[in-house]
Amino acid sequence: MGEIIGVVSGKGGVGKTTVTACLGAALSHAGHRVLLCDGDFGLRDLDLVLGVADEIIYDALDASEDKEYTDDAIVSIAENLDFLPASQSARWEDIGRKKYKKLVRRLCDVYDYILIDAPAGIGKGIESILDLVSRCIVVTHPLWVSLRNGARMIQVCQEHNIRDFAIVFNAVPVDGEDIDLYDMLEVLRAEYVGAMIPYDEDILTYTQDGH
Ligand code: ADP
Ligand code: MG
Repeated sequence: MGEIIGVVSGKGGVGKTTVTACLGAALSHAGHRVLLCDGDFGLRDLDLVLGVADEIIYDALDASEDKEYTDDAIVSIAENLDFLPASQSARWEDIGRKKYKKLVRRLCDVYDYILIDAPAGIGKGIESILDLVSRCIVVTHPLWVSLRNGARMIQVCQEHNIRDFAIVFNAVPVDGEDIDLYDMLEVLRAEYVGAMIPYDEDILTYTQDGH
């Protein structure tokens, strides 16, 4: 039985999609069977980052409406690494969210880890994702605007009884001497840092062409 992990933030543009893709690649390299789910219905982009935008014919909406489409909707990215795209046209408000949750829970039998790349904001999408996951990775920039949204997202996680979350500080300036991570952790009411990822211009280049 696989574990479902949500990659969340509240704020857009902080690195959820990048973290989902990179963590998925790392876990699959380590030999785990991994499924990456684009949870951004209506605004999907994980397919672009993974370099498979042209290969998508069916998506999670087709597979949740009719399980016969599940294999067609799942795109293989690399050994042990698969991808389930979101619908580009239908939004979370438009889809059968119970059916989607049933689909993802069914896929737990096939994978060790299912990572769900969450949308920005607080709405039906994040609520459905939090119903599915057992823990969350909360991605934030080390900036107050981002932290406030991260703190709110942690609150929303707790309202869904998710108490296991790891904070990922992304795009940390390499010469970030002024950043006081202890103050920032206090705002998030978190006890420890899950990871710190430096700002790196190469990330933009690699995620542009799916490497
Ligand atoms: P989100 O999914 O939270 O909206 P993305 O993962 O799409 O955010 O990242 C937003 C932008 O920031 C992308 O252009 C991505 O390439 C870039 N980015 C992400 N992480 C880093 C980083 N550590 N250093 C530099 N650029 C980054
Ligand atoms: Mg994204």
